[in-house]
Amino acid sequence: MGTETETREILFLNPVFKEMIWGGDRLQKDWGYRIPSPQTGECWAVSAHPHGDCTVREGRYAGKHLSELWREAPELFGFRRESSFPLLVKIIDAQSDLSIQVHPDDAYAAKWENGSLGKTECWYILDAPENASLVMGHNAETREQLAEMVRGGRWKEFLRYVPVKKGDFLQINPGTVHAITAGLVILETQQSSDITYRVYDYDRMQNGRKRELHIEKSLDVIAVGPEAGKGGIKRAEQIEADCEPNRLCLLIACGCYRVWKLEVRGETAFEQDTPFMIMSVIEGEGRICGHGIRKGDHFILPNGLGTVRLEGNMGLIASSVCG
Ligand code: ZN
Repeated sequence: MGTETETREILFLNPVFKEMIWGGDRLQKDWGYRIPSPQTGECWAVSAHPHGDCTVREGRYAGKHLSELWREAPELFGFRRESSFPLLVKIIDAQSDLSIQVHPDDAYAAKWENGSLGKTECWYILDAPENASLVMGHNAETREQLAEMVRGGRWKEFLRYVPVKKGDFLQINPGTVHAITAGLVILETQQSSDITYRVYDYDRMQNGRKRELHIEKSLDVIAVGPEAGKGGIKRAEQIEADCEPNRLCLLIACGCYRVWKLEVRGETAFEQDTPFMIMSVIEGEGRICGHGIRKGDHFILPNGLGTVRLEGNMGLIASSVCG
């Protein structure tokens, strides 16, 4: 048995909320969070980004920002080399359509965005209306055609819509044109970056004016060609078929992160052998290492935690860095 100071604690976090013109009130209604207004679009659940730096909710590190812990207690994260906490997990409530957007990769962001990270992201669909679809990819075949369609505002021709439903999982690589549509609630796991280029915003007004577009940068980074926009979709049925209850089930491994789904039915345990693991409870309730948890809780399993025991009836999404 280690002494009290040697025991690693699970880091439970306080989310940061973001009001958005497209946001709603479901983060309160469906998730029980105290939100700043009924136009709240995002819950930054696990983040050390300067635009939303979560604090620890309880325990030895209560009140500390995640960014501070990353610097001051690197042992909790396996002494990683990244200069800041590399991942960001958020829940998005889209009461109306989000703008059509695209993100740069690391190389482009480093050069043109003050050394920021690029943004690779993935979405687990938490809720979707009947017959929902979202924007993923486009129909331009060459860079010339891309420029013509975007500059000419030929959105109907340009945008590619894919049908989605609750439980689907989508990977959005940098350079992929994408947009979340009205009625979707998703859990996003992404690189810790806030660099978004807005391609089209449906000509909406905010405080009497349109939000800024970033056409030139978008045209620079939008991928064209057979692989463009093919980050990949894993359908709910496929996930259901591939994933056994009580086991971490890998949804994606890319250069930026690994993401798993875990359905707890009764009791289970696993070894925490990643540098650190983020977990979000998306359904039900139960316990982790004796600590009560329920839908809407987000926490980090530190390095060296050892055997993680879970019990209850719940669904979780987990993530970690790659390698
Ligand atoms: Zn995005």
